[in-house]
Order: sequence, then structure tokens, then C-alpha cells
Amino acid sequence: MSKNLKVLVMEPANQQLPTDTARPNGALGPAFLVGALRAQGIEADYLDATVGLPSDLIEETFYNRVEQENGTIRYGMSASAMAKVFANYDIIATSSIFSAQTRLHLEAARIAKEVADQRGREILVISGGVNARAMREVFLSNHFDIIALAEGEKVIIQIIDAFSRGNRDFSGIHGIATRDGDRTVLQPVSSERKTIEMKDLPFPAFDAMPLDRYQQIGIPHAGLLPKGMKYAAIQTSRGCQDRCTFCHISLEKQQADLLGAVGSLRMFSLDRVRQEVDRAVALGVNRLYFEDDNLFFNKKRLTELAPILRRDGLEYSNVNGANLRFLFKRDQQGQNIVDTEFIEMLAGFGLKELVMPFESRNVDILQKYASGKFNPDVMDPILIVKALKKVGIRISGNFMIGFRDESWDSILRTKEYARVLLDAGLDAVGFMIPVPYPGSLDFEAVMQNSATREEFNKDPLQFTDHMHWRAKPLFPTVVSGEKLVDAVQEFWLELNQSPYKQEKLSQNVCS
Ligand code: SF4
Repeated sequence: MSKNLKVLVMEPANQQLPTDTARPNGALGPAFLVGALRAQGIEADYLDATVGLPSDLIEETFYNRVEQENGTIRYGMSASAMAKVFANYDIIATSSIFSAQTRLHLEAARIAKEVADQRGREILVISGGVNARAMREVFLSNHFDIIALAEGEKVIIQIIDAFSRGNRDFSGIHGIATRDGDRTVLQPVSSERKTIEMKDLPFPAFDAMPLDRYQQIGIPHAGLLPKGMKYAAIQTSRGCQDRCTFCHISLEKQQADLLGAVGSLRMFSLDRVRQEVDRAVALGVNRLYFEDDNLFFNKKRLTELAPILRRDGLEYSNVNGANLRFLFKRDQQGQNIVDTEFIEMLAGFGLKELVMPFESRNVDILQKYASGKFNPDVMDPILIVKALKKVGIRISGNFMIGFRDESWDSILRTKEYARVLLDAGLDAVGFMIPVPYPGSLDFEAVMQNSATREEFNKDPLQFTDHMHWRAKPLFPTVVSGEKLVDAVQEFWLELNQSPYKQEKLSQNVCS
């Protein structure tokens, strides 16, 4: 393989609703890609266009806020600044996991192709990630050459190998989508097998990420971070055993023939996690954010990991996903009781913050949309809130209101549920309107209506621009969209404490 090709793995500028927080990108996916490329001796860099290069002025990147015609605020590097960086590379790879940022991925791809035209040498533009996979038709008809359908770390090496031969023949690669004229060509992940340990994946390149810039900004993708902490992300497992219909990966779990093991539950070995923590500590990281979809799914394994995770001066946050039923265990009579030993173990290895996805007080809603993953009628949530507070973990709760067939009464019950849990000890609560993201079963449900699908296909960006949990729902709901938008805002203002609200509002994209 030619080692002369230069690869830029990048995340584009972002757009947010005026009511939302501006955050840097910095997801772990791109760091895994850079790690995989470097392990093969390929020159690869990472660019987070929300914060730019270390030499860029932060006012010209993260604090460069531009109001857009679609009503959102764009923040990050300008198009011309990105073009200057792109000119140094042969391949640009983006990782697209948020539907609402689709427009900015297409912008980056367009800039890359313009740069290639100007300099007279091709730039291959590829993408991966759950949104790119689900929106592959849109990506491939807007400047992207290849979409990785499998986990990108293996596929990107094969793509670069083929590209380096100069003949642009990608037909032998499993797990990609390409374009042939107007036709999308799918090359399934037929040979991919489900594995329990992901032995072959190289370490994510933490050192390629602008960790100092992230520390300076101090706004992680969720939760609250004490000022001055240097943070990064870690993954001990991938996938999830549950099947929430609103989950971005819910459709993919039914497409194993095409996509392979993406979305199903797999684990890194204990030793691998140990080495990853070592690497983060060596870079001066003192807060690690778990990016597991469901950290608690295997309590025995997490208990074995605890001494590996525990380090002097290192703390952890889990704001990404934690299935609450695992905080209980059965007593001898078969009753659910709080697993205090497990909770003490979490605090013992340094877990300082946990975002708890309570979702709804309506058990029918939980059953229908959230795989029945937690049932507050049989597992008392007040008891876990108290137990987590007792060991000093900062806890906030997420609640979803406005499912397409949910009544206003049900929404009010969830609001009261949030209030009761705050009284029991929750530090903060947040409310979200479920969004049928492309790739989810909920999206497929609304697309059953052929007129809706036609409208979506005509102008997908008009939809994805507003795929935000605080935005007016794009598809019909029993409670009006306007009422839901007001509710998420008003409930949040009414129930949370002033210092928390002030801190969050100071991070607003308009502030
Ligand atoms: S628990 Fe979370 S990761 Fe798992 S299916 Fe539900 S939303 Fe997805």
C-alpha cells in the first residue's frame, strides 16, 4: 500500500438551534479512525472544524457564530479556512452521527471537491457513522464518493489501499456504498462476523484530538464539567442489547446482512481498556466520558473493570447511556432491590456524574418505544436516586415527552415524575421531544406515509436541519408541536435550580 497519501479525518462545523448549547465535536469515532490509519503507517490527522487548528484564534472558530437562513446558528471554521486545510490532503473522511449536522457534512464534502478542482488533483471524500449510513443516498449524491457501511476502522484501510493503486476500483471491498451514475451500489458486509471482543481495533488516537482546546472551552457533549478539567472519551463496549424504536441504530439491528455487527453488543478486553486508560492518563486527562451505549449491561465485567479504571486524580462521567434496570438486583424472594454494592463500586472507581434516561412515567410508552427497558412500577426510581446521591454521584435525569400518540395527560405525569425525582435528590432534569432520526424504526414508521416520504426525499436537509429534540416535531403528534416546544422549555425552567440554569444558559450558542 502507498504510504504517501495523506488523510484528514474531520468533523465539520456545527449548526444549532438558537435555544441550544454550542459544543465542540470531539466524538471518539474519528479518533478510532486516525488510530487505525496510523497503525498502518498512513499519515493521518484529525480536524474538529468547530474548534479549528491549535494555531487558529478561537474567536474565528468556536465563537464564530453565523445566523443561517434555516434558523440555526452555524459555529466553527469558515469555508475558506477549511479549504486551506483540505488542500494538504488526498482523502477527507467525515464521521456523521448526528442527523441535524447533515448539511455541514455536505458543506465539507463540497469544499473538498472545489479544492480538488482548483488544484487539479483528486480528493477522495468518504464518510461513515450511523447518519451517513442511513442517509447514504443523500451523501452520495452530494459530493461523497464512498460511505462505509461497516465499522470504519477496517474499511478505511481497504479504501485507501484501493485508492493508492490509482484505478478507483473499490468493487472488491465489503461494507461500502458507492455511486455508479444515478445508481447506488451496495457492497454488503457479507464476511463480517459478530465478535465479542474487538481484538483487532487499534487504539483511538487521543493525541490527535485538540484536548487542550476542549479543556479551554470546557463544554463536553452533555452534563456539567468542573472548570479546568482536561477531558476525553473512552469506550469499553459497542452496541446495545435493547431495541428502542427511537434509537438511531434500531433499524440497523435488523440489517445484519448488509451492515454486519454494527449496533450489536461487543466488548473490548479488560487489558485493552487498561491500556486505553493509561494512554489518557499519560496525556494529562483527568475526566473520562464513557461512550458506551449501555455501560451497565454486564455488571460482572464492569466490576472486574473497576480496579483497572480507578486511578489517582482520574474521574469519570457517564452521560451517554446507562440502563437503569441494572441498578437493581433480585432478593431471595424475587423482589427488585437496589444493588447498593454495584452503586458503591461505581463511585469507588471514580464515577462522578451520571445522566439517567428515565424517559417517561408512562409504562405503555416505555413498553412501546423504549423496549420496556425500565419499569418504574416494579423498580422504585426514588431508591436508586437516593443510593446514587449517598455515594456522591452527580445525577441528572432525561425525560422524553411528545411521542406521536402520547396525550397531554401522559406528558404531565412525566413532568410530575421529574419533580418527584428532583425532590428525592436528582441534581437536574431535561426534557426532550422524540425525533424520528433516519436509521430509526420511528423514522421508518412515519415514512410509511408515501406523501411524507416523497416530501422528505425532495428536500431532506429541510428535515434534518430541524431534527432536534427541542425543535417543533417534523411529523404529526397528538399534542401540537408548538405546545411541545413550549413544554420542554417551560418544564426545564420551572423545575431546575437557578445556578444550574445560569450555567447552562451561559453556554447557549447565542450567548
Ligand atoms: S437503550 Fe439507548 S442505545 Fe440501547 S436501544 Fe435504547 S436508546 Fe439505543
